[in-house]
Amino acid sequence: MVELRSDALVLRSRDWREADRQITLLTRDAGKVTVLARGVKKSKSKFAALVEPLTLGRYLLHRGKAMDILIQGEIVKPYFSLHQDLLHYATAQYFCELVERSLPNNEPAVAIFILLVAALEILEKDANPARVARCFELSLIDELGFCPALEGCFYCGQQSGPYYFDFAHGAIVCGQCPRSQDSILISGAAVAVMKRFLKQGFHRLAICSVSATVNGEIGRVCAGVFRTSLGLAEIKSRSFLASIEKI
Ligand SMILES: [Zn+2]
Repeated sequence: MVELRSDALVLRSRDWREADRQITLLTRDAGKVTVLARGVKKSKSKFAALVEPLTLGRYLLHRGKAMDILIQGEIVKPYFSLHQDLLHYATAQYFCELVERSLPNNEPAVAIFILLVAALEILEKDANPARVARCFELSLIDELGFCPALEGCFYCGQQSGPYYFDFAHGAIVCGQCPRSQDSILISGAAVAVMKRFLKQGFHRLAICSVSATVNGEIGRVCAGVFRTSLGLAEIKSRSFLASIEKI
């Protein structure tokens, strides 16, 4: 019997037949996997807590052709605090949906596992979930191989903004150079914050001041990169997050 024993995070959990659940795990060792957890909806199941979204645990799986089967597991961290605040919870769900939809099954993605766990750790402590979200989006885009070119205008190298972010090139372009129709205005301040996020990740994020305007600009660039480079046009959890951010 082929088995996988790995740390993993529950990206998604849904009902499956009467008593079972199907979960999507991001494992440290084998990337994204789909797992059947048998009998977990029965009241005495010892696995019930292991299949909750945002649970970090150690899982033992029997590898199957279509789906793996959960054999055993233990919880490392259930991220209870993220479940207690709607904005933080919705932000964490958004991270999970981005990862789930941008990764293929069964391809190791250890850097993205480490990034996602680090993002949840920071999110627990940070009073500004939108700042964590922008930093996570850019870091994920970078890990997936679509890092934007931000060192001056793509054509002439001009170093001062404002620029346009041109999604056809994944790069910034100045106002004097040609740009594709699929481009949006972006300030020099937003470009500077993006460069900082790409260079430093979550390091000392809490002291990085990001205005709502700059946050919005970076969010639009990241959404455009997800749309053009990864085919993620509709991201349900992002729409939900946007709706509660306005409250
Ligand atoms: Zn230029």
